[in-house]
Amino acid sequence: MLKIAYHPIYKYQLPTGHRFPMEKYELLPEQLLYEGTANADNFFEPTRVDESILQLTHSAAYWTKLRDQELDTKEIRAIGFPMSPRLIERSHTISSGTIQGAFFAKQYGIAMNIAGGTHHAYAHRGEGFCMLNDIAVAANYLLQQGAAQKILIIDLDVHQGNGSAHIFRHESRVFTFSMHGAKNFPTRKEISDLDIGLPDGVTDEPYLHILRQTLPRLIDQVQPDFVFYLSGVDVLESDKLGRLSMTIPGCRERDRLVLEICKREHLPIMISMGGGYSERLAHIIEAHANTYRLAQELFF
Ligand SMILES: [Zn+2]
Repeated sequence: MLKIAYHPIYKYQLPTGHRFPMEKYELLPEQLLYEGTANADNFFEPTRVDESILQLTHSAAYWTKLRDQELDTKEIRAIGFPMSPRLIERSHTISSGTIQGAFFAKQYGIAMNIAGGTHHAYAHRGEGFCMLNDIAVAANYLLQQGAAQKILIIDLDVHQGNGSAHIFRHESRVFTFSMHGAKNFPTRKEISDLDIGLPDGVTDEPYLHILRQTLPRLIDQVQPDFVFYLSGVDVLESDKLGRLSMTIPGCRERDRLVLEICKREHLPIMISMGGGYSERLAHIIEAHANTYRLAQELFF
């Protein structure tokens, strides 16, 4: 069964006019239920993990400041959200969803989180709408539990996974792969184990060609026993921040390449959603829903 992490706290009210499309976290599960891609049994509500688990990844000093609302103005500005205790609870819940989803992925082959993919969060600070790095938190927990020995992070959000790259820079058991817009945020990139920086305006064919060339070789080389996939849909041409020119079917094909190879190689895969900033919310929802439709089609 496809297990999907979702909790009512995912829908969070930002001040009106804030540019982050928070509505998608409510609309996406609704769409999946409406069209029958998922039913109520597919969803599970993550329970917040112990703070010590977050601190396998995040420094105690940073976590305490987040939790106790003690970040300074500069740190808050880098994150880009007005702070509140509920926003931190939300982030904590989302990371817990990625952890608990990872164990479902080991059981069923695949699992997903309606949110997450907060790859700009570092061990000691946040930025770009990211406070806790859900995939890093889950990866470190799997390693600590002995539930995985070698993890591959496939990060296809259009922005570089700078936080993840930095967190795992000295961790040989986690391989970070990021394919992103070379000229896009963050301006100062970190060094992932494999970075592919794309020029502006890349369309479906060249994008998919690179991915087809890269993925099988990467899995051969890394020999992972667990995969995290960050399926950001800000690669779309309609995206306000993306600078690439992928179509919705092209984005679906991208997901298919990743899911098919994991299925074929019997690699458990846990998917976090990542970004999506198209003008029309319908484009964001459609592209994200495709990832779920494919999961059902290929795995169940
Ligand atoms: Zn992004």
